[in-house]
Amino acid sequence: MKKLRLILGDQLNSQHSWFTEVDENTIYLMAEMRQETDYVKHHIQKVVAFFLSMRNFAADLQAKGHDVIYFKISDENNLNDLEKIISKCIEEHQITQFEYQLPDEFRLDEQLKQICANLKIDSKVYDTEHFYTSRTELKEFFEGKKLLLMESFYRMMRKKHHVLMQGSQPEGNQWNYDKDNRLKYKGQVPVPNAIIFQKNIEELVAEIEKAKVITFGKIDVSSFNWPTSRSECLAQLDFFCTHLLKHFGDYEDASHTDEKFLFHSRLSFAMNSKMLSPKEVNNKVVAYYYENQEDISISQVEGFVRQILGWREYVRGIYWKEMPNYGKMNSLENHNKLPDFYWTGKTKMTCMQKAISQSLEEAYAHHIQRLMIIGNFSLLTQMHPDEVDAWYLGVYIDAIEWVELPNTRGMSQYADGGILATKPYVSSGSYINKMSNYCTTCHYNVKDKFGEKACPFNTLYWNFLDEKKEHFKNNQRMAMMLNLLNKIPAEELFKIKIKANHAIKNLDDY
Ligand code: FAD
Ligand code: SF4
Repeated sequence: MKKLRLILGDQLNSQHSWFTEVDENTIYLMAEMRQETDYVKHHIQKVVAFFLSMRNFAADLQAKGHDVIYFKISDENNLNDLEKIISKCIEEHQITQFEYQLPDEFRLDEQLKQICANLKIDSKVYDTEHFYTSRTELKEFFEGKKLLLMESFYRMMRKKHHVLMQGSQPEGNQWNYDKDNRLKYKGQVPVPNAIIFQKNIEELVAEIEKAKVITFGKIDVSSFNWPTSRSECLAQLDFFCTHLLKHFGDYEDASHTDEKFLFHSRLSFAMNSKMLSPKEVNNKVVAYYYENQEDISISQVEGFVRQILGWREYVRGIYWKEMPNYGKMNSLENHNKLPDFYWTGKTKMTCMQKAISQSLEEAYAHHIQRLMIIGNFSLLTQMHPDEVDAWYLGVYIDAIEWVELPNTRGMSQYADGGILATKPYVSSGSYINKMSNYCTTCHYNVKDKFGEKACPFNTLYWNFLDEKKEHFKNNQRMAMMLNLLNKIPAEELFKIKIKANHAIKNLDDY
């Protein structure tokens, strides 16, 4: 039997059982394809990071003796289409069986099923051996339940996988240290300088440009610093444990004008490309915590484990439970278009200017910037979730639909009507002021609702609640806010709405 095994760009799992033995009758196929660069417009750093990681992965496989066919974006014989490439390889190499690993995106899952149905040879599909859960585990766990609470899923996962457990009890006798993870960053402890990876990406960037792949965002070829090989990913994980973990939880929800990354791990690309597995990340972090308990508190490590064992597996389960309908949901009926400043960062609102400019410069923003700054603003200005999704899917280095879509359309835009979040994540300027220093240098005044310099988040917030109150009238968690809305005198609310609507119609002037 002669096998052709497909490896997709986000399936760079060198620990997969496929690679335990070298078999001369197996060919591995990898391809940089226009179908993947073009399904949405991507940040240039994202395209570079994926292609470079794929090339490194292929080189490692070849060094271990595996037979690899690799199509670069610049190769003249690259057909740039998955089905055509597979068919050509099958024909040219007299393949008798085609094999692939379960894709994490619905679109590729459908495409591969169709390709296999069209093939004249046998095909076989394998698990990626990456996640803790199967695609359907969350659905089965919540069977018959009305609320899909992340917290109950997370506790089940802690018990099932014995992570941070003492027998049947959670480490420290508390499941969740969320309340301890809300410090404002005021320079209390210095943020360590990032680990530097030396790499030459000039040629690859030129190849991408020559192929006329349309991208956006910035790249500095001399300082591109994402881990793009297994050894760099392991070094990044090591750096996180040694230098960042001890303050991770404390400043998890903070933002600061001078600190783009604070104590965040920047491991999402390493995991989403599968160069690192979530299990090895958690195991390493938990082991490091047990060895250094005098230096690291449980709230730091639990805060981190919750993101990976909890949120990451949870959003994946929601994706597979709800797709394909999830990608079309717009329960709040929002229809506005994104303003131009989402592509330039040119706005007088410091919080938005910082979060968007950083996204364009680094292909990265941390969770609170994505949720409570850009996501909050997008929802308050009632932007169409398709537009918001396309922007998030393109801009971030770690954006792959299975994780981007539930986070953006669900958690941040509430377009799923509350499947994922029990209430919309919206706030006025006061939350941003509480958790960052953005307001101190802003053109606008965070305390004001009216006047030239009033913080746009303030008027937009009350306007949003008023416009969408019908959607929330049966939501107990919104009752307090709707009561406060009702107490605003009619004349004041009228003024708020005029100001908010002016902002929504003229976003690029704000
Ligand atoms: P850290 O803060 O160090 O967290 C550690 C790890 O936890 C991350 O690497 C990530 O793997 C995981 N994690 C944390 N929060 C989440 C979450 N909500 N869902 C899934 N995993 C989580 N994450 C992506 O990987 N891809 C996306 O496309 C993406 N889009 C997002 C869109 C919005 C609107 C929001 C609110 C969040 C999104 N996230 C996404 C989740 C989170 O913001 C990123 O995982 C995180 O910022 C990546 O940076 P980090 O590795 O430094 O994370
Ligand atoms: Fe953002 Fe308002 Fe603060 Fe300015 S004042 S940084 S717009 S929250």
